Amino acid sequence: MMKRVIIVGGGYAGANLARALDSRAEVCLVEAREHFVHNVAAIRSVVDPSLLAKIVIPYDRLLRRGRVRQGIVASAFDGGVMLADGATIEGDIVIVATGSHYARPFKPTLHGARAFEDGVKAAHASLLATDRVTIVGAGAVGVELAGEISTAHPRKRVTLVSGASTLMPGYSAKLARSLEAQLRAKGVAIHLSTRVESLDATDSPYLGTLPGMPYAAENQLIFPALGARPITAIFRHMPAAYFDAQGRVRVDAWLRPAGAQRLFALGDAAATGDPMTIVAITRQVPWLAKIIAATLAGESPKSLPAYVPWSSRGILVPLGPRDGASMLPLMRDGVLVGNWTTALIKGRELFIPRYRKEFGYARKCA
Ligand SMILES: Cc1cc2nc3c(=O)[nH]c(=O)nc-3n(C[C@H](O)[C@H](O)[C@H](O)COP(=O)(O)OP(=O)(O)OC[C@H]3O[C@@H](n4cnc5c(N)ncnc54)[C@H](O)[C@@H]3O)c2cc1C
Repeated sequence: MMKRVIIVGGGYAGANLARALDSRAEVCLVEAREHFVHNVAAIRSVVDPSLLAKIVIPYDRLLRRGRVRQGIVASAFDGGVMLADGATIEGDIVIVATGSHYARPFKPTLHGARAFEDGVKAAHASLLATDRVTIVGAGAVGVELAGEISTAHPRKRVTLVSGASTLMPGYSAKLARSLEAQLRAKGVAIHLSTRVESLDATDSPYLGTLPGMPYAAENQLIFPALGARPITAIFRHMPAAYFDAQGRVRVDAWLRPAGAQRLFALGDAAATGDPMTIVAITRQVPWLAKIIAATLAGESPKSLPAYVPWSSRGILVPLGPRDGASMLPLMRDGVLVGNWTTALIKGRELFIPRYRKEFGYARKCA
C-alpha cells in the first residue's frame, strides 16, 4: 500500500511539491481555497484586469492520483493534521506550506478568490479615476507596480516612496541602480529614506492623501506595498516552535520545525535561509521531494544531504512587458541581466502559460 503524504497549502510550494510526489505516494493536499491564484501576475492585473480570467485557476486538474481537499488546517503534528471543523487526517509525512499574506489586491486571503478579483477590479477603477498614484514600499511588488502603472499610463504622476535607502532592500545594489534608472526614465518620482508615518490603511489601496509629505496632493491613489507576512498559525500550536524576526518558523537543516521528525515546512512560512520568493521554492521543492521519497523508503532524513539555500538572492523584476532587470541566482554573487532577458523570461507573459499548464488548464489559455 502506498504511504500517505499530507501537504497543507496549495500555493507555489505546496502545489509544486504535490505534483512532484503524485506518482510516488498517496498525496492529500489540503487547501483553504477552491482556486490557485497566480499572484505573480496580480500586479499587472491592476492595469489589465482581463488577466484575471487566466490567473485564477481551479485545483481540480492539478493531481492525477492524489486529491485536493478544501479545508483550513488548524494544527499539524508528526502523523497528521486537524482541520478547523475538527476532522483529522492521518499521514506518514506532513508538509506545511501555508505561505504568506500580502496587502490587497496582490494576494487572495484564505477565504476565496472572489474577493481577490473584486479587489483587483476596484483598484483598477480607482486607478482610472485619479491622475496621481503613490506607492509606499520599494520591494519587488512596489517597484513592479510603479513600472506597470508608468508604462500603461505614462501621463499619470507615479511616486514611489520608501523608508529604505535603496530600491529592493536585501538585493544587490547593481539591481537596485538599474531599476531606479529605468523607473526615473519612465517619469516615476522616487523618494528614498523617507518614512511615511500616517497611512490610513496598510492592507489595502485607498484614495486619500499623505499629510506632511511634499507630494501630499488630495485624492491620490495610495498603494501600501510593505512586504509579505508569513502565515504561521499552525506552528503557534507547537510548544517547541520558534520564529525569526520576519515571523517565519525556524526549521532544522532538513526543514523540520519544532523538533518534528516527519513534519516539514517550506516556502514563505519557513525560515529556510532563502528570501520569500518562488525562485527560492524552485530550489526547495526538488530537494524536499527527494528527501520525502527516501524517507518513505525507510531512510532517516538526517542520513540525507541537508538543505542548502541559494548562495545569492535571485529575483526577476519586470517594469511592464518590455523593461526591467533581474538578478539570476547563478555563481556566488548572482548575475545581473537587463530588460531584454527580463522580458523574455518573465515580463512578456508573467509565467501565466506555465502555471496554467501545471494546473492542467493549458488549452484554455490561447
Ligand atoms: C504580487 C506578488 C508578486 C510576486 N511575484 C513574484 C515573482 O515574480 N517571483 C518570485 O520569486 N516571487 C514572487 N512573489 C513571492 C511569491 O508569491 C511567494 O514567495 C509565494 O507565494 C510563496 O509560496 P508559498 O507556497 O510558500 O505560499 P503561498 O503562495 O502564499 O501559498 C500558501 C497557500 O496555503 C494556503 N493556506 C494557508 N493557510 C492554510 C491553512 N491553515 N489551511 C489550508 N490552507 C492554507 C493558502 O490558501 C495558499 O494557497 C510575489 C508575491 C506577490 C505578493
